[in-house]
Amino acid sequence: SAKAAGSNQWAFFKPQMTERAAVRLRTEASLHDALINDEFILFFQPKLDIHSGELIGCEALIRWQKDGRLISPVSFIPVAEDTGIIIPMGRWVIEQSCKTIKDWKTRYNVAVPIAINVSTQQFQDASLVPDIKQASLRYQVAPELLEIEITETSLMDDIESAILKLQQLKSAGFGIAVDDFGTGYSSLSYLRRLPITTMKIDRCFVSDLPDESAIASTILMLGKQLNLNIVAEGIENQEQLQWLQEKDCQIGQGFYFSKPLSIEEFEEKYFVANQATANKF
Ligand code: C2E
Ligand code: MG
Ligand code: MG
Ligand code: MG
Repeated sequence: SAKAAGSNQWAFFKPQMTERAAVRLRTEASLHDALINDEFILFFQPKLDIHSGELIGCEALIRWQKDGRLISPVSFIPVAEDTGIIIPMGRWVIEQSCKTIKDWKTRYNVAVPIAINVSTQQFQDASLVPDIKQASLRYQVAPELLEIEITETSLMDDIESAILKLQQLKSAGFGIAVDDFGTGYSSLSYLRRLPITTMKIDRCFVSDLPDESAIASTILMLGKQLNLNIVAEGIENQEQLQWLQEKDCQIGQGFYFSKPLSIEEFEEKYFVANQATANKF
């Protein structure tokens, strides 16, 4: 009977849940220490002009250096969100990205835009806009060199206050990208009202290319109509790249060009190595 199945399930899942809760508790505690001990680092994945191969900018992606291993944000960002640690962690990402933009200008005389990911909680926090403005002022970063990536779901949660916040960022000159576009709950009628500059086609639609292209085509058309920059995420092979080139998508990101790189690798590849070959694919 259903009841018997239910009680069996409970007996079966209980020890696992306890184990998971324990892992979570340990993660929470060490995440807090990680901030204090400076255990986070940023990796950078290039965004390239898919026709010329020229470097357009990069996305900052956080990693946790723990006991000599790199831990993926997929495993700790949700915990950081639940505990509120995401706020100081996000502040660190903003600060570090501005510092990096300034460093690259000073050391290599290049102006390379960095995009940072902002999670739902962080987007809703009142300190986000002042934090971004203060950090960019402190490091004398031109606002157009800093782009904020936000998922649709964060934006649709409280659409009116999202619009206000984005207006503050956009009028200050910062770039605003909708990340993982097509996977969330965008209402098309609101999309038109959002003061955004860029749409990132989610990797799952790019990985369907070239065979299944209906969604990618539609997003490209929509972006063009709305006058937005469009970035294709997760380009992994020549066939996908070629389809995107033919459809006149401008900007691409993905393992086919480069995985996210440590800052040293990124600098070596894009600023130090022979410029004639570094940016081409
Ligand atoms: P995202 O913002 O959509 O970032 C893209 C993710 O796709 C990155 O994973 C990147 O390494 C991966 N990726 C890029 N190209 C390819 C490809 O060709 N194939 C495949 N299979 N994957 C590709 P990563 O670095 O593990 O980050 C995962 C997610 O964690 C990010 O998704 C973002 O939502 C979140 N995240 C990363 N850094 C931060 C951060 O500093 N703050 C916040 N709040 N979230 C972050
Ligand atoms: Mg992103
Ligand atoms: Mg994405
Ligand atoms: Mg994502």
